[in-house]
Amino acid sequence: MVKPRKKRNVLYPPRILYFKPQGIPVKNLSSVTLTVDEYEAIRLADHKKLKQEDAAKKMNISRPTFTRLINSARKKTAEAIIDGKAIKIEGGSFIFLKNRIRCLRCGNVWDAKIAPASNLTCPNCYGNKLEDVGNKLSRGIPGGSRRRRGRNW
Ligand SMILES: [Zn+2]
Repeated sequence: MVKPRKKRNVLYPPRILYFKPQGIPVKNLSSVTLTVDEYEAIRLADHKKLKQEDAAKKMNISRPTFTRLINSARKKTAEAIIDGKAIKIEGGSFIFLKNRIRCLRCGNVWDAKIAPASNLTCPNCYGNKLEDVGNKLSRGIPGGSRRRRGRNW
């Protein structure tokens, strides 16, 4: 039996899950997939400028594991930028400590508790068509929503 990999702490779901080079149709593009835990490694080490040791603590993993993670994340990001590939963020072994909700009407994104209340409305436009970003990523449904849509995805 395969031992399940320890889940890495990720503070928030990423705001944007897909990046593409301008002017190239999606069908002609190849892409790299950055896992959610790799995204968090970049955020902590390269954006927040934490030392690897401190970043590893935040993610609840060892320093060597963090080093492997950040190296892989940087390699993929470099490949996308140099070779002109899209970047997709999905998958990985992680648990979100906090959540983000996206309004499907006005695009507003805000921080929230892990499980959003069903009677929640957008603080910007009062719309109630909301996307639970953390839940979507945790379940690995690219472009999915909370509504059940059969087994098409
Ligand atoms: Zn809204």
